[in-house]
Amino acid sequence: MEYKQIFLDAYEKMDVDLINENCGLLCNYHCCRSRGDDGKLLGIYLLPFEYELMQKNENLINKETLKVHTNKSYELPKGIKKLYYGYCNDSMNCIRKIRPVQCRTFPFVPHIEEDKLYIVIEKNQEHNCPLINMREKWNENFEESILLGWYKLLEIDKIKKLVVFDSLNRMKSEDILFRYSEFIKI
Ligand code: SF4
Ligand code: SF4
Repeated sequence: MEYKQIFLDAYEKMDVDLINENCGLLCNYHCCRSRGDDGKLLGIYLLPFEYELMQKNENLINKETLKVHTNKSYELPKGIKKLYYGYCNDSMNCIRKIRPVQCRTFPFVPHIEEDKLYIVIEKNQEHNCPLINMREKWNENFEESILLGWYKLLEIDKIKKLVVFDSLNRMKSEDILFRYSEFIKI
């Protein structure tokens, strides 16, 4: 299947909100802020091919601030030479239908262990989402939809490499706070 279609399918599966209301109002749009608690600039990583296929011609990511992180300066998995890192044009007016995977999946990240795909929440996640401790408020199909979206994205070899790489690092540093009970055999 063409990579573009894989992304379209994954965006569709992941078109779910963590809760029914605008969660940004709970925390002043913490995951959209462009500076971290330490004042450092904070952007969004796009998946391999995601900028070129899904974001390049949209007006979500500010092109002037777009950065390319290469394997010369950043620790990337073998076979991945670069990742795009971008900042949103207007985080208070998100164009939600085209928001990238990183924003759809939060607070979960994909995790592969013993040939099973899970979604997990890391202990050291950047945004301290207030909803992590309010599971009773979550949409009941959120986790399943996000898991299915990631399963689709693993059809792209470079994305799978990245997920495997991050999963190994996560296991080494014992950085898992919560694991959704379902998984998919891969
Ligand atoms: S894409 Fe939307 S949800 Fe994601 S950081 Fe930008 S404004 Fe926030
Ligand atoms: S940190 Fe949590 S509550 Fe705040 S905008 Fe992100 S997902 Fe929503």
